[in-house]
Amino acid sequence: MTLQEFQIDFKKELLEQYPKEEIQNFFSILSSEILGYSRFEVSLNKSQNLEEAVLLKFRDALSRLKNNQPIQYIIGHTEFYGLQFNVNEHTLIPRPETEELVEWILTSEKENLKIKTEENSKKQISATLPITAYIENNIEILDIGTGSGCIAISLAKQLPLVSVSALDISKEALKMAEKNAILNKVLVNFMELDVLNATSFPKRYDVIVSNPPYVRDLEKQMMQENVLKYEPDGALFVSDEDPLIFYRTIAKLAKTNLKVNGLLYFEINEYLGKEMREMLVGEGFGGVEIKKDMFGKDRMLRCSIKN
Ligand code: GLN
Repeated sequence: MTLQEFQIDFKKELLEQYPKEEIQNFFSILSSEILGYSRFEVSLNKSQNLEEAVLLKFRDALSRLKNNQPIQYIIGHTEFYGLQFNVNEHTLIPRPETEELVEWILTSEKENLKIKTEENSKKQISATLPITAYIENNIEILDIGTGSGCIAISLAKQLPLVSVSALDISKEALKMAEKNAILNKVLVNFMELDVLNATSFPKRYDVIVSNPPYVRDLEKQMMQENVLKYEPDGALFVSDEDPLIFYRTIAKLAKTNLKVNGLLYFEINEYLGKEMREMLVGEGFGGVEIKKDMFGKDRMLRCSIKN
């Protein structure tokens, strides 16, 4: 069977399930993964006869797509903030909205870092300061519920002078995150921790960030089959009774674990912006800003402890 013949079958088999452009996109991704071909090389080599082993790989991917498996799990990786991340069924597939959260943190932390570096160089002139003065000036970031490590690793890559820690309840997710840190050549201090049962974090941080589970049961029906069937429930869902449980717990911990002027960043449920604001103000946070994502939905929040 030729590449073109398979492509025709591939389209036919998926037409009922996916839009045309998406099928085309799947085929490109798989051709690049299995044959190392760019889009252009696919059309150049369309009359190439596929070897049995190659055909098997294509057919396996096709049947997994028919079962609604996300393409990122089929090929085992995805891209986030210009970096490659391995993913599997223990880690949520990083979303573009989360890239916007990373961007927001980076813009403000780069400025912060500039100020701190200037302060540091001033201090170095008076060489009598205790070493702790410099340590306190190191910027520390903590990512809670890191999953594939996408937030922590992207921040570490962009902010080489900052120390980044990340935690997750899932051993399997942490394994993947550690692999991803190596793949992207950054150091992140990963910790296994169930945040709902934590009493405090090991350090105080300049930035605490989290994209915790926030999809309520009542929103499940709006979700796509591939998410529901394959992505980890523990990374996505919260009960209708207490959908802010992760946020409230993290906010309480942040009160003792954020440095003075430290910032708390969240990715949030688009329908719960108002509730989030009220909860955070009640916990003693101020300067609550909510930012919309590229789809115009309330998606990101930043706040600090009221002085
Ligand atoms: N934005 C994700 C989704 O809709 C949910 C991410 C989360 O629960 N933290 O699939």
